[in-house]
Amino acid sequence: MTVAVPGLVRPRDVDEAVAVLADGAARPVAGATALLVDVARGAGAPSRLVDLTTLDELTALDPAAGSGLGSRRVGAAVSLARLVRSGGALGTAAAQIASHPVRLRATVGGNIVAPGWPHDLRTVLWALGATLEVAGPAARRRVAVSLDPRTLAPQEVLVALHVPSTPATVVAGGGVTAGRPALQVVVSRSTGRAAVGTSGWRRPLPATGTAAAAGTDIGAVLGDELVGLGVPRLVAHDLADRSARPAA
Ligand SMILES: Cc1cc2nc3c(=O)[nH]c(=O)nc-3n(C[C@H](O)[C@H](O)[C@H](O)COP(=O)(O)OP(=O)(O)OC[C@H]3O[C@@H](n4cnc5c(N)ncnc54)[C@H](O)[C@@H]3O)c2cc1C
Repeated sequence: MTVAVPGLVRPRDVDEAVAVLADGAARPVAGATALLVDVARGAGAPSRLVDLTTLDELTALDPAAGSGLGSRRVGAAVSLARLVRSGGALGTAAAQIASHPVRLRATVGGNIVAPGWPHDLRTVLWALGATLEVAGPAARRRVAVSLDPRTLAPQEVLVALHVPSTPATVVAGGGVTAGRPALQVVVSRSTGRAAVGTSGWRRPLPATGTAAAAGTDIGAVLGDELVGLGVPRLVAHDLADRSARPAA
């Protein structure tokens, strides 16, 4: 199969990227992991691609802890592999996405935006109370991450995520190996939100989040809520028992 190679634009900055996208014919590209598969599967190849991977604003990554900032900024063109290496609750969650070779190229922004693909980071970002920084023809805007799949307008670029630096708990287990757990639970006591996930299956845990926000021991609530979702009792209670573990 022959895949057409469209023209590639390397903008100097985000404003230029947005200006090139304004005619509606060009599309942003980052790691191209989803885009190439889409084109190979028969989706129309865009006539022009705007490369986001060389823009400083999109490749900058704040450290996971100790920055002294109220929130951590993660550029949208940061690869999932780099996010994993940077640690924190988000890095721990990103380690469950795809495989290492895919994570070396796939970006955070692509995971949140790519239409028709799983968006495993979304539920975690929602639990952590993160916001998205989006640049469009009119202005920049900040929007809270919601559970609804959010589609950016074609002319818009996801520039960065802003993730509150408040501590979160991540527990994982139930898998064949510790490095590839069957389930992972992320709990933020500051937002009062919790989420459970396995690759391609992520959902909120309302009762656990409420218990966390109230400062009560989440163990019993978490175990019951996981069992209610159909998680085997042994796995659910194993995760609940370890629920006090701090973020890696
Ligand atoms: C083999 C495989 C396994 C996978 N497994 C998982 C999984 O287990 N869980 C999961 O959640 N995901 C999974 N994915 C999806 C993966 O996370 C995405 O393919 C990847 O994150 C997309 O990032 P990218 O940089 O490669 O995006 P690209 O392929 O470059 O772009 C994808 C789309 O997003 C748009 N886009 C990208 N960045 C931006 C931006 N900053 N602003 C605006 N638009 C943008 C592009 O225009 C395009 O439409 C898998 C993908 C593959 C190929």
